[in-house]
Amino acid sequence: MARGRIQVRTESEIDLLRASSLLVGRTLAEVAKLIRPGVSTEDLDQVAETFIRDHGAVPGFKGYNGFPATLCTSVNHHVVHGIPNGDPLQEGDIVSVDCGVLMEGYYGDSAYTFMVGEVKPEVRRLLEVTQECLDDAVAEAIVGNRIGDIGWACQAHAEASGYGVVRELVGHGLGTHLHEPPEVPNYGRRGNGVKLQAGMVLAIEPMINLGRKEVVQEDDGWTIATADGLPSAHFEHDVVVREGKVEVLSTFKWIEEALGVVR
Ligand code: MG
Ligand code: MG
Repeated sequence: MARGRIQVRTESEIDLLRASSLLVGRTLAEVAKLIRPGVSTEDLDQVAETFIRDHGAVPGFKGYNGFPATLCTSVNHHVVHGIPNGDPLQEGDIVSVDCGVLMEGYYGDSAYTFMVGEVKPEVRRLLEVTQECLDDAVAEAIVGNRIGDIGWACQAHAEASGYGVVRELVGHGLGTHLHEPPEVPNYGRRGNGVKLQAGMVLAIEPMINLGRKEVVQEDDGWTIATADGLPSAHFEHDVVVREGKVEVLSTFKWIEEALGVVR
């Protein structure tokens, strides 16, 4: 996590962050169009990188601390930070696709967990609840609240469904660096932590496990997996703290269009 002070962004900086966040949404929609059994995460990565570069941006993750790819692709019990590979996705898999871009000096960072073909009802439910956790957490990002309110909202909803909330990985401030302060945990207590101010830009990203909350790191030095081997889901939005109502900079609308999701 980057050190330094928590930044409050100007409206012109927020415009740039919004543009980057929207490009991530467009990129994830290109990925959404391709998700099916037989496609590999390497295939998805190539399409994403080309799309990002064709739109005047660069992949935000590639080369970040040595990460080798444009996307983090985390299948089934992999939580986050999976490296794309040539293995074909299988019917019934889920895959978290996390994407970052850097455009005109500002980052966008958003993630969506996709279903590959027909997925077991219990796993489908995990995805639904994790997205609800994201929505609940995002809604707390208003002036006067604290970081702990965001985590509390996420944790309360996840644990009410019996799921495990990953502790070791957190959301973060977003701006001219991919990871800025403050850390944004997906668990917490109401009224605790840093006070939110108008213009703070946060990436909020619940990682919710079907089973226990514990995770392990795999031998590739990147991939985080559930300790119990059960599936995990991950959704991420970039938001601006505002007075009264949060502004969500990223969007899933093009992803949902591509998937035919009715909201
Ligand atoms: Mg991300
Ligand atoms: Mg992030």
